[in-house]
Formats: sequence, C-alpha cells, structure tokens
Amino acid sequence: MPRFLVSPDMDKILSLSKRRGFIFQSSEIYGGLGSTWDYGPLGVELKRHVKEAWWKSVVADRDDMVGLDSAILMHPRVWEASGHVENFSDPLVECRICHRRFRSDQLSEDKCPDCGGALTEARNFNLMFRTHMGPVEETGQEVFLRPETAQGIFVNFPNVVNATRKKLPFGIGQIGKAFRNEITPGNFTFRTREFEQMEVEFFVKPGTDEEWLNSWVQSRFEWYVSLGIRRQNLRLRRHDPDELAHYAKDTYDIEYRFPWGWGELEGIADRTDFDLQRHDQFSGESLSYFDDESKERYFPYVIEPSGGVDRATLAFWLDSYDEESEPSTKPDQKQGNVRVVSHLHRKLAPITVAVLPLSRNEKLNPTSRRVYDLIRRNFNAQFDDAQSIGRRYRRQDEIGTPYCVTVDFDTLDDDQVTVRDRDTMNQIRLPVSELTEVLHDKLEHGW
Ligand code: ATP
Repeated sequence: MPRFLVSPDMDKILSLSKRRGFIFQSSEIYGGLGSTWDYGPLGVELKRHVKEAWWKSVVADRDDMVGLDSAILMHPRVWEASGHVENFSDPLVECRICHRRFRSDQLSEDKCPDCGGALTEARNFNLMFRTHMGPVEETGQEVFLRPETAQGIFVNFPNVVNATRKKLPFGIGQIGKAFRNEITPGNFTFRTREFEQMEVEFFVKPGTDEEWLNSWVQSRFEWYVSLGIRRQNLRLRRHDPDELAHYAKDTYDIEYRFPWGWGELEGIADRTDFDLQRHDQFSGESLSYFDDESKERYFPYVIEPSGGVDRATLAFWLDSYDEESEPSTKPDQKQGNVRVVSHLHRKLAPITVAVLPLSRNEKLNPTSRRVYDLIRRNFNAQFDDAQSIGRRYRRQDEIGTPYCVTVDFDTLDDDQVTVRDRDTMNQIRLPVSELTEVLHDKLEHGW
C-alpha cells in the first residue's frame, strides 16, 4: 500500500484537523490564546482511545501495576522537595530591540532570530504556573499548577503500599493534565503550555533498576509500533551524561520523526531513589519500604516512563496520513483523483464503523436505521446519508474510519449488507445477523 515517504504537509494537517473536528484553536473567536488547543468531536475520541490503549497496556493488563488519579494542586512544599522550585527553569534571553523572548539553548546564534537585534544576558525562568489558593490573594497560599503528574504518585507511595499490599517490583500509573509556562511553545500540539501526561513510576529494588529500565524502554517503544507508527519514523536516543535531569541516572527518549524533525514522545528515566528520599526528608514521614523477603528497609529505585498524550495523539494522527493516487478512469487523463486516507489503527480511530445507506430513499430508511442501531450499541458509530456514496466513503477515509457498512436496495430482500475496508477498499457482503460478530473479529484481528 503506498504510504507517504515524505512528511505530510502541516498546513494540510491543520486544515483537515479543523475542518473535520479533530483540533481547534482554543478561544478562536477571540483570536486564540497562544499555544492552547481544543479537541473537537473526533479529536476527543482519538485522544481518549490513545489514553485507553495506554491504560490497558501499562495498567490493566499487568499484575504489577495499579492506577491513581491525584490532584493538580499540591502542597507547595512538594515542589521544593522535588527540585522544581530550584531547578525547573529554562535559560531565557530577550531581544533588546523587538523584545521577543527565546530559550538561549535553542538559538544557534547570539542575535535575535527575528530582527537580528542584540540579546540580553540569559536568566533562568521558572516554568511553573503560580496561582493563589483561597479567596484573598494576599493572604492566600501560593500554589503551583503541577508541571508533571509524577509527584502525585511519589507522595502517595506509602498510601498505595498500605492500601494494596503490593510488593516490589510494582508500579503506579496515572494520566492527567500538566502545565508548563514554556518560553517557546509551538509546532501545533507538540509543545503547549497545558497538556496531558501518561506517566508510570515503577518501584524496584536498587540494583535491579538497570534491567527494569531496559525492559520498560523496549515495551514502551513497541507500544507505539503496535498501534501503527512505522518503525522508520521512531528512534531511541540515550541522554548524554551532561543532558540528564538532576534526578536521573540514565534516560532514553523515544523520538518520532515529526515533519519539522525528530522530537520526543516519551522519556524513560532511571530516577533512582531521589524523589522518595527527598519527600521523606521534607515531609518528615517515612517513604521507605520494608522488604518482607530480605527483612531490610530501603528506598526503592524508580523507573519512570513518562509520555505526552497530546504528542502521542499527534504522532499517531500524522503517521497515519496518506494521499493515494487512484488510477485514472478516463483515457485522456494522466492521473486519477487523489484519495486522502488516514490509516489510523483500528483501536485508535475516532469512528469505528460508519453506516451509509446507498441513498436517502424512504424505503431504505427503516432498514438503515435498524442496522445503525445495531452497530452503535457495539461500536463508535456514525450515520451518514448526505451526498453521493463515493463522497461519503472519502469522508470516512479522511477521518480514518476502518469499516463502512452500506445498506442498499438488495438489503430489503436478502437482509445482507456490504462491508468495505478502508485500507484495501475490498468489500464483502454478509447477513445483518452476522455483522457485529464479524466486525468484532475484524477489529481484533484486522481484515
Ligand atoms: P521537552 O524536552 O520536549 O521539553 P521534556 O524532556 O521536558 O520535554 P518531560 O519532562 O520528560 O519532557 O515530560 C514527559 C513528556 O511530557 C514528554 O515526553 C512529552 O511527551 C510531554 N511534554 C512535556 N512538555 C510538553 C509540552 N510543553 N507540551 C506537550 N507535551 C509535553
């Protein structure tokens, strides 16, 4: 199957995302708000499926994992203990002429990339958003919007151990919003100031951490492949020692080949016992672990696979995009039409099955509705009877719907419908009574 060899054009992706209801600019009618985006009716389904696939793979399907949903607002001491108050900053420079601000570590020259003006000295800019808790700002406590979900997991480590009686090695997974006042957001939903993370903190006995790091790196990499991202667009990059975060002993990034270059989808870090030790010190509560087998008390080491929901969703969306030339149907035409098709994995596609009556003819309507009711009880479904059947197939191809079910006049006699596969465009005819079973089977195993 021909798939794009060059990266898709971002303008086309942006316009398709808006036109079909995947992603809208936030507060668009007011001119938008820098780097914030809203997921529309189809985007919210795609993103939800990404999160469900992650949760199933790292929490539900594993015996050694449990889940958590911690609050965005946390005690301010959390961020002192974690090192974020001190270290979570980027070097910021400002142009003396146009006053635009940049991250100095992202500039290749010593002058403003926009107007060529001279730049100020770099100063550290903390990326955490601050706000106040309580009704009176002056007396209220200053709190932060969490810049990562991880700390909610660390501070709950003793609660989870007590509540679940889990023994090492085991992990806690969480999906939730995080906020960073990025200096240079951009590239669509790749770098925003409000985003969602999917994070695991996996607690292990010190000394077994390197083995567990490798195992998580492999399984997380394969997760992206299993949901349709092509291997040639993924790579693993190990951090150089001078690049490691203040808490990390070793880190691998899973990177995707975005249209603008390689960018991080997920970081998998060996965080050692840094966070548990720090919270133990700062809170005065014990965050160590008593090992029943060896009768020792120690601080577990932590392996952290930390990915972005928005970045993963964008990568799945981009990687699935394709433009296929169809053979020309007229002798005087060199090239046929171009079919825009999204090959989203069937578990991620926003709509799984579309029901398309051949026409709006009244006679077809009751049967079409009956088939649609059957389908939507079982699958994410859409009913579309506007315009020609060819156009409707195109619309479903564009949004990545794996299966279209067509109801035609023969259906009225034989109660059979046609199922069309998005990728091969092959069609089969089968009785309505077998439809859900066959579709369930195809969704599990493919066409
Ligand atoms: P980057 O180097 O791109 O800023 P990071 O190394 O700071 O990312 P982490 O702190 O490791 O990122 O966060 C884990 C994951 O959260 C990232 O791999 C990414 O998928 C996601 N993420 C981080 N910052 C953003 C952001 N500003 N917008 C969207 N997703 C983000």
